[in-house]
Amino acid sequence: MVKTAQSVWENCLLFIKDNIQDQAYKTWFEPIRAVELTDNALYIQVPSKFFYEWLEEHYVKLLKVALTKELGNSAKLLYKIKMENTYGNKQPFTEQLPSAHRAPVKPQEVDFPLQNKNPELKNPFVIPGIRNLKIDSQLNANYSFDNFFEGDSNRLARSAGLAVANKPGGTSFNPLLIFGGVGLGKTHLVHAIGIDIKDKYPDKTVLYISAEIFTQQYIDSVKRNTRNDFIHFYQLIDVLIIDDVQFLSGKTGTQDVFFHIFNHLHQNGKQVILTSDKAPVDMQDIEQRLLSRFKWGLSAELHQPDYETRISILNNILYRDGVEMPQEIIEYVARNIKSNVRELEGAIISLIAQSSFNHREVTLDLAKQVVEKFVKNIKREISIDYIQKVVSDYFQLDIDTLKSKTRKRHVVQARQLAMFFAKKFTKASLANIGSQIGDRDHATVLHACKTVDNLVTTDKQFRKFVDDINKKLSV
Ligand code: ADP
Ligand code: MG
Repeated sequence: MVKTAQSVWENCLLFIKDNIQDQAYKTWFEPIRAVELTDNALYIQVPSKFFYEWLEEHYVKLLKVALTKELGNSAKLLYKIKMENTYGNKQPFTEQLPSAHRAPVKPQEVDFPLQNKNPELKNPFVIPGIRNLKIDSQLNANYSFDNFFEGDSNRLARSAGLAVANKPGGTSFNPLLIFGGVGLGKTHLVHAIGIDIKDKYPDKTVLYISAEIFTQQYIDSVKRNTRNDFIHFYQLIDVLIIDDVQFLSGKTGTQDVFFHIFNHLHQNGKQVILTSDKAPVDMQDIEQRLLSRFKWGLSAELHQPDYETRISILNNILYRDGVEMPQEIIEYVARNIKSNVRELEGAIISLIAQSSFNHREVTLDLAKQVVEKFVKNIKREISIDYIQKVVSDYFQLDIDTLKSKTRKRHVVQARQLAMFFAKKFTKASLANIGSQIGDRDHATVLHACKTVDNLVTTDKQFRKFVDDINKKLSV
């Protein structure tokens, strides 16, 4: 059989997949495309320079073994870097700061809008007469890189954060969007980036702000007729960090002003860092032009921490508080609290408190009681597989039929219901739901959710289906 770039690469992937963790495989190898095979050299296309550097740093040995198996000792691997979301005539991976060619922005005298202690000043954002007034960055010193533990679940986001901190505005990760569920470390990570930048570049103005406060400030500025000052203030920031941008959903005025600020900062080589509880494709009621801006840079997901990371987070908290705890207890907590770092912290701190205040020794029994309290409050995560099973049982279909391509009406309906409940009961993205339920795309899932919403209000029989299945899934 003639070897092609694709066939060679597919075989390499089979080997690689067997040798690394699933998450790492998905993050680093699934996005790669094999493009060419000439003279025993395989060209692979990677989405960014960062990607290439990462592969070289972490997986070069594995790649070499895989490729040598396929092409022999003279095998060569070459990279092509392709950035999808470049715009205009900007070259992919020009690493230089666009602002290098411009006159530097003159130091301005500014104050943080909400911190203005001088309400009678006409312009709330500028205090005249104070030179080089520093903006308070609003960063929390407790959230640094030093105490942000690395694991498979956060490696991409963390290292992209470090790259941005080394060269704010000077990488292709602009904006950098960190997304993921509650309590997975988004806020912590963006503070860490801000703190690191302040350390390395004391002259840069860094500002952390939640999207909620940003919105309030904007509304206030409209009321007080100082909208331009508001915009002007934000346009002076070198590194703007906005937390929880999903909060902007449906708020068109704030989105509009943010769009202008974003464009100005971006064009001037300033860094924008955002967090959100969803991936851009899953954000609702955010204007398309803003979403497309979010995609210019890098979106990095924080996943649920794996077991090793959970252990190291626990150990670190214990170390920080100077407490010792038997290994079996630590392992017990790490095994049983999986979904988020905040709960993990809560459980171990509660154990520490129990033992130090009540002078109780921490036994496995005590750990069980504490963990139970935490786990009970956590809605048990229902899997998409489980939902598909419940839905197909209900309609007496088998799962394969549900997942199949058939357009028979009753199957389509069952499939749409499975998608609807997957959206309702899991934290999976639309794209992820689609890929698990019959390999559909995110638009299909979105359509399914809307169809179900509509039918529930118009069709009594259908409503009963929904209620029945809902009950089965809720117990
Ligand atoms: P989010 O903003 O995603 O809801 P936070 O950043 O508020 O989550 O994190 C919740 C808690 O978990 C914080 O106390 C944070 O310090 C801690 N945390 C999250 N991820 C990590 C990590 N990788 N290492 C150490 N602490 C973490
Ligand atoms: Mg947060």
